[in-house]
Amino acid sequence: MSKQRIIIVGGGFGGVKCAKTLCRELSSQNVEVVLFNRENHLVFSPLLAEAVGSSVNPLDVVVPLRQLLPRVFCRTEEVKSIDLRRSELEYESEECQLYRMHYDHLVLACGSAANLHVVPGMADYAFPLKNIGDAIALRSHIMEQMERAEVCSDPELRRRHLTFIIVGGGFSGVEVAGEINDLVRSSARYFKNFRRENVIVMLIHSGRQLLPEISSDLRRFARKKLGQAGVNVVINTCVTSASFEGVILQSGRLVHGGTIVCTIGTSTPPLVENLNEAKEKGWLATEGDLRLSGSANAWAVGDCAVIINQHDGRPSPPTGQFAERQGAHCARNIIRVLQSQPTKAFCFKPRGQLCSLGGRSAVAELFGFHLAGFVAWFVWRGVYLFKLPSLARRFQVGLDWALLLLFPRDLSHLRNRPTDRVTHARYQPGDFIFKAGDPPLDLYLVEQGEVEIIRPHPQHPDGSATSVLGPGSLFGEKSLLNHEPRVSSVRARSEVRVLVVARSVLARSFPSQRSLCHALARKLNPRARDLSTMG
Ligand SMILES: Cc1cc2nc3c(=O)[nH]c(=O)nc-3n(C[C@H](O)[C@H](O)[C@H](O)COP(=O)(O)OP(=O)(O)OC[C@H]3O[C@@H](n4cnc5c(N)ncnc54)[C@H](O)[C@@H]3O)c2cc1C
Repeated sequence: MSKQRIIIVGGGFGGVKCAKTLCRELSSQNVEVVLFNRENHLVFSPLLAEAVGSSVNPLDVVVPLRQLLPRVFCRTEEVKSIDLRRSELEYESEECQLYRMHYDHLVLACGSAANLHVVPGMADYAFPLKNIGDAIALRSHIMEQMERAEVCSDPELRRRHLTFIIVGGGFSGVEVAGEINDLVRSSARYFKNFRRENVIVMLIHSGRQLLPEISSDLRRFARKKLGQAGVNVVINTCVTSASFEGVILQSGRLVHGGTIVCTIGTSTPPLVENLNEAKEKGWLATEGDLRLSGSANAWAVGDCAVIINQHDGRPSPPTGQFAERQGAHCARNIIRVLQSQPTKAFCFKPRGQLCSLGGRSAVAELFGFHLAGFVAWFVWRGVYLFKLPSLARRFQVGLDWALLLLFPRDLSHLRNRPTDRVTHARYQPGDFIFKAGDPPLDLYLVEQGEVEIIRPHPQHPDGSATSVLGPGSLFGEKSLLNHEPRVSSVRARSEVRVLVVARSVLARSFPSQRSLCHALARKLNPRARDLSTMG
């Protein structure tokens, strides 16, 4: 058998399990497993709410992929498109260049994306909770709200700072409401300007019951327990819009709140959206054995696909539990194909469901048993501790939890303000500041001297100078805006001094770099001399 290349797109629950199973059961002499993931880590999403609530350190919720999968070629790059007919994919390198790679088998495990556009205003004013960046940003905002409430003399404004609105009463909505409630109420004793009674946590759900996936006795328990802990549960109510002030309910009532967390709404990831084949209502359509419909060597697992579970004939729910099983099943089916054996349909009997409610309480349905309260919470922690994919993380999370029994939650609020990289640089006549094809890393302002813009030209291998920029002119903005390599080169005509602003500084200081760069370029560049008209 010639060496086969198996590419997995997505390093979440499904992709990692698939890679692990392939590496365990196949020799590296026969296969090369390549895993593409946008980040260099797996996010253990069941503990994201705990990271928000300062119950665990945010770093303990992610696991580096290359340490988890030492035999896999892990590439921290984004796959942009797939050509199923030619068995090729296109990915973008760190330098914004596009490359193609051939595969013998492809596994799509790219999950789902948060869709904040389900409710007007959510995209601008609500926090999603999908990845570790979301969890850190939300935790940071909660700390900020408490600090603001502490120094606020206006009672109305203080109330707004201390009101937290969570939209969606599914697993993640309930868990994050419980965690925020525990964090803010238990921390109130360290503040002088508010007490725990002043904190308002509101959980708004459009359905008739919270946690529709679990049995009615556990749902009732969850609602009662959240109410006792001080969470205001509002059911049968849709949020129609969100704004800076709070959310508007379908009755027209405005609920004031300084923090809105949106746990509803998912959409297909861009890669799936751009694929024109094998789709069902936007998601990837699969055969029973997890192959993409109509394909011989492309497979799909996890949240990005519609996968019928042969156990009950219904589509699999979008959970980590199912994604992992599908990842392992897909790997075994690929091995069967490589060994010319028939594949098997996906069939899995779910083990159960667990949901933490905060206040050392949870609900659990496991192997047909129903548990609620402290025992369920203990089981919840045990199960997820065991399910964490690395031994190091199990120790770290176990230690975080043990320390929480002895010490209060950590209230430190780390503002992400590293030293800004704005520098000055000097160039001699003839020096290149950058060349066509270079990655777009910086924005430049000419302070002294002149530079010339050189466009590549088919008849002149070195390109031809098209315009000259003098003091006060800005350059380099176009490829920064378009996230593409430099299209022209820039060379110093005389001794030149430029101000260099790093892309990271722009992104941090001006979230909408695009409008800023356009405005600056319009303002500063009318002085550019066009060489073609200069004779
Ligand atoms: C807050 C929260 C709590 C949850 N709690 C639970 C729980 O308690 N139990 C449970 O079973 N499930 C839970 N889930 C659901 C669970 O996280 C998902 O069902 C599971 O992660 C799906 O796994 P996946 O492999 O399909 O995708 P994911 O785990 O989402 O991984 C997809 C990966 O693909 C990468 N990717 C996407 N597109 C590209 C591309 N073009 N190129 C490169 N990489 C790409 C992404 O960056 C991501 O890393 C929770 C989810 C959330 C958000």
